[in-house]
Amino acid sequence: MRVVALETHDIRFPTSLELDGSDAMNPDPDYSAAYVVLRTDDGAKGHGFAFTIGRGNDVQTTAIKALEPYVVGRDCSDLGAVYRDIVGDSQLRWLGPEKGVMHMAISAVMNALWDLRAKLAGKPLWLLLAELSPEEIVDLLDFRYITDALTRQDALDILRAAEPGKRARIERLRADGFPAYTTSPGWLGYDDDKLRRLCKEALDEGFTQIKLKVGADLDDDKRRMRIAREVCGTGFPIAVDANQRWDVATAITWIGALAEFEPWWVEEPTSPDDMLGHAAIAREIAPIPVATGEHVQNRIVFKQLLQAGAISYLQLDAARVGGVNENIAILLLAAKFGVPVCPHAGGVGLCELVQHLAMFDFIAVSGSMDGRVIEYIDHLHEHFVDPVVIENGSYVAPLAPGFSSALRAESLAEFAYPWGPVWNTASESPPIS
Ligand SMILES: [Mg+2]
Repeated sequence: MRVVALETHDIRFPTSLELDGSDAMNPDPDYSAAYVVLRTDDGAKGHGFAFTIGRGNDVQTTAIKALEPYVVGRDCSDLGAVYRDIVGDSQLRWLGPEKGVMHMAISAVMNALWDLRAKLAGKPLWLLLAELSPEEIVDLLDFRYITDALTRQDALDILRAAEPGKRARIERLRADGFPAYTTSPGWLGYDDDKLRRLCKEALDEGFTQIKLKVGADLDDDKRRMRIAREVCGTGFPIAVDANQRWDVATAITWIGALAEFEPWWVEEPTSPDDMLGHAAIAREIAPIPVATGEHVQNRIVFKQLLQAGAISYLQLDAARVGGVNENIAILLLAAKFGVPVCPHAGGVGLCELVQHLAMFDFIAVSGSMDGRVIEYIDHLHEHFVDPVVIENGSYVAPLAPGFSSALRAESLAEFAYPWGPVWNTASESPPIS
């Protein structure tokens, strides 16, 4: 698995035009992918990306390009070694460590390597990971900074405990898929009629949970929650998501005002860096659960959220921490603390990625689907070579080899920024490289 080339693409979708993806902190999102393609000397390709919003791609694609010397010309067969080398690079590490733009770039490249590995093996990534031995899995990880909560031996114990029944769980997954919930009805920029119609459609399509964006205006939130509750009925799980809008005290009073509508969980009530703030909110709003994770920057912050009893649902993101390797450590931490993982997937291509991680978790780590759902949004899947498939409110287990991360060539051309025809912001031709 010798990589001979790394190329980046700045791909942006003008989702702000319809307010798809709008929430309390992101009123005008243009969902974007800082996209990377790795090529091997025998013509195989691996694809990965960091999800950003519009202008973030300027910085993100440059950060991915900075990793070129660490993978090009290298035999990347040992993905544990590659991961630890890139994360440990002393000069790039200064930009983190293990957080922010550089870490997301590492995620894009590591995920592209995993896509390549799975394609070469002829298997979907979830199955490739599920068939690794416990020893092979722990060799992929970096236990530095988490051994006070999860040691190598703890990880082996969790993985070995999940060995019995793996085959049966693979069969169940192939037959029934993995439960999904939909965020599509609840974007903050949608009017009440659209909210009502999309709630109804979610029920008709078999979803067993929805999520609404909240946090900009309390009266609006109450009215929208009342509409959703009317359509979905008493007891139907309706989660709410504040996208980091509140200070701790505001979160507590705001959620208190929404308690009559029985939110299933409250997501990102405050800064993703505030472990103790999350813990205080969780204590004060109990029994309403707190969920977070899409902006949690690494395994160490997840460790602290779990140690502090701050979250009841862990929402890992496939393209923010250091890729598949670090996410396996996070799945193991969640299993150690008995907290269900419900991955974040609001963004371009995140549904495609996280399904593999959740399915691997079910088969080989937690061994359970109880309390677990994968987020689903119905935007932008048409741009992927192997888009997710939802049937009866569940993700169908993908069968195509790889990580489902490849964008279609037509989409790469049409949505390239700023030269693609959708953007049409430049009068000159792109420079020849
Ligand atoms: Mg969210």
